[in-house]
This record gives sequence, structure tokens and C-alpha cells, in this order.
Amino acid sequence: MVQGTLYIVSAPSGAGKSSLIQALLKTQPLYDTQVSVSHTTRPVRPGEKQGEHYYFVSKAEFERMINEDAFLEYANVFGNYYGTSREMIEQVLSTGVDVFLDIDWQGAQQIRNKMPQTRSIFVLPPSKEELDRRLRGRGQDSDEIIAGRMAQAVAEMSHYAEYDYLIVNDEFNTALMDLKTIIRAERLRLNRQKLRHDALITKLLAD
Ligand code: 5GP
Repeated sequence: MVQGTLYIVSAPSGAGKSSLIQALLKTQPLYDTQVSVSHTTRPVRPGEKQGEHYYFVSKAEFERMINEDAFLEYANVFGNYYGTSREMIEQVLSTGVDVFLDIDWQGAQQIRNKMPQTRSIFVLPPSKEELDRRLRGRGQDSDEIIAGRMAQAVAEMSHYAEYDYLIVNDEFNTALMDLKTIIRAERLRLNRQKLRHDALITKLLAD
């Protein structure tokens, strides 16, 4: 069985990362691609479901999991804990399925150190003006809150050069195609194809 590839996708809030991953999943069968559901201590937002967007847990529960070494990586992002459970990732990858992690730069650094074969992708917005517009959302927040979000976005973006791939999400469908192209190319790498087509290659090379 060929091991699945672990992909990290990071981006500042407002770059459209979640929409890209969701759109990708709709076009890929579950036996090919899955997205990891993280644990977090942040409050549930309207419309979010337990076990679907996140596993929402208390700080005590999260810290218990840290002590049990349950996380492949975890980080404090803007005052809340977020972490990737080790068990699910290792189990799914071993069945040959590719797994996507929607995590920040801190988590990406930890995973890269532990699993160097991981591929990482950074998504940028098309311009500062567009990012500002997206961060303003429905226009109900104060300038101070917007400025805080912009500072967080710039802090995240300053890590773009640590990644293997860079996508600029200007036109959504083009960005989605870029993402799919990365996955396709990774699946065509010699070491993966060699394992996948072992029987064929053996036959072709037989005298
Ligand atoms: P949000 O609270 O808006 O869903 O996510 C805030 C940030 O936390 C995003 O940049 C997201 O990628 C990151 N994040 C979500 N889950 C994880 C995780 O398991 N680990 C790390 N390190 N970051 C995460």
C-alpha cells in the first residue's frame, strides 16, 4: 500500500483557504482525500458543528491531551489552543489516503520537523485592498478590530517562504485548479508511481 501524502495548507484569515479546501474535497472521493478535523478550545461560531468543523474541547481537556502526547502538533493561535490529533492522521495515511491539514505556520513548522515528507502550501490574497475588504466582512467591526486582524494576517503571511508551494487566490477557480495540480503532480512522483505500478513495471521490464 502506498502511504498517503500529508498536505499542510496555511494562509491568513481572508485568503479563502477554507473555501478552497472545501471545494477540493467536493471533487475528490473520500478514499483519495480527507481533511483533518482539529481540536480547539475556541468558542463555537454560529453554524459550526462539533466533530465537523472542529472538536470543541475545554482548556483542561486540551491540556490533558497534550500531556498524553495525543497531538502531532498544537499551537496557541490568537489566544486559543488548536491541535491535530496524531491517531487519525497516522491511521488514514496508512490506508493510502491523502490528508489535508488546515493549520497555522507554527503547526506547519512542527509537522515539517517531524515528517519531512509532508508537502506544504501557502495561500495569499490577491492584494492588500482585497484582504482589507475581506477582513471587514459585513462591516460591523471597529477600525481597531480590523487593524488587529490585518496585523495577524501580516504576521501569518510573513512565513510564506517556509512552504513548498504558493497559490495566489485571485480568481477562485484558477486557485482551485492550482491546488489540484499540486496534488496531481505529487501523485505522479517517481517514488509513488513506482510502488503503485510495481506489477506493470516488473512485466514491462521482463525479458
Ligand atoms: P479559526 O479559529 O478561524 O477556525 O482558525 C484560526 C487559525 O487556526 C487558522 O489559521 C487555522 O489554520 C489555524 N488552525 C486550525 N486548526 C489548527 C490546528 O490543529 N493546529 C494549528 N497549529 N493551527 C490550526
